[in-house]
Amino acid sequence: MAESAHGICVLRLIRESTFNNLTTFRQSRSLPIYQWSKSVMANIRKHLEARERQILAPQAAKSADTRGRLREEAEDDVRPAFQRDRDRIVHSKAFRRLKHKTQVFFAPTGDHYRTRLTHTLEVAQISRTIAKVLQLHEELTEAIALGHDLGHTPFGHAGERVLDELIPGGFNHYQQSLRIVDVLENDRQGLNLTWEVRDGIAHHSKGKGGSPVGMPASQRSKTLEGQIVRVADLTAYVNHDIDDAQRAGILRPEDLPKDPVALLGGSSSARIGRMVKDVVEATFAGNLSEIRMSAEVLAATLELRTFLFSAVYENESATAEFKKATGILGGLWEKVHERPKDFLDARTMADEGVDAAARDFLAGMTDRYAVNLFETLFIPKPWVGPIDLVDGQ
Ligand code: MG
Repeated sequence: MAESAHGICVLRLIRESTFNNLTTFRQSRSLPIYQWSKSVMANIRKHLEARERQILAPQAAKSADTRGRLREEAEDDVRPAFQRDRDRIVHSKAFRRLKHKTQVFFAPTGDHYRTRLTHTLEVAQISRTIAKVLQLHEELTEAIALGHDLGHTPFGHAGERVLDELIPGGFNHYQQSLRIVDVLENDRQGLNLTWEVRDGIAHHSKGKGGSPVGMPASQRSKTLEGQIVRVADLTAYVNHDIDDAQRAGILRPEDLPKDPVALLGGSSSARIGRMVKDVVEATFAGNLSEIRMSAEVLAATLELRTFLFSAVYENESATAEFKKATGILGGLWEKVHERPKDFLDARTMADEGVDAAARDFLAGMTDRYAVNLFETLFIPKPWVGPIDLVDGQ
């Protein structure tokens, strides 16, 4: 479909202006159905790449047009490049560790609190929903979403702040996410991901005051799929952190700021739906030149984030445990510097120094690994003597 024709379709959708029409639009498209002959089976990937060109918007990234990998390698027979990247991330050790890393609440004992893993899955779900409606590349946006927080430290943002102070030159999680996929995974071979996935990971982070949309071109992901993850990340955490804070008894629904709730909705589900539809409508209206959000929904979303910072992220009772986390990471940092050969990767020490190796070791830890190692190194074990007889003799 030519770009202008796609634009006409988009304008028609906006004029008709309901999401029911989007459903009808998708159902009415006559997509090619492949005859699964031997010749197709011989190279499924090429057929899937051809299908991307038929069904995705002209503005979508295409697997066959990737800018490539850090190291050249043969293509897979079955999976196009971005699908392969998604799979590599799911099978990585760093991805599995996300299940024991803090989102907001430290080492939650309640089964229903988010962890960094479930946050990541929610970001992937929201990203795919947006990408699908916009006819962008779902697997590329999914790969970026699944990889975006791989570099997070134990103990959430408190852990990131501690490492930022400890490590000469500072620390941030998105650079560490890139280091994991480029260098550390796969026995230091890296995952050798495509440029598009790496670019999306590098540009997802907004920090405390950054905007999810409207960044200058030089500061945003070069693909629309990467820009989706940036806005889906905020959409996910603003809503699930409110939900978890209410579960923890730190927030009540009536504590939330009134205006954003009136605009976006009274539940996480309603707010996510409102934000997603707004992103889709605003991006269609801008003819997919970049991922957008309307000014009013953006302002309401950012107001919720500001509220969360004061009421939850920097709240004294919610962060009391994080002060202990500071002591744990500080103690471990000192100990691994005292005995680097016992803990740190010899290749990293030789190539980049002890600080770099200590950064990789500490940042890669799960909450419970850090706590257990601290206990092993710093807490004396109680002496276990002979068992007393029942009569005390
Ligand atoms: Mg995130």
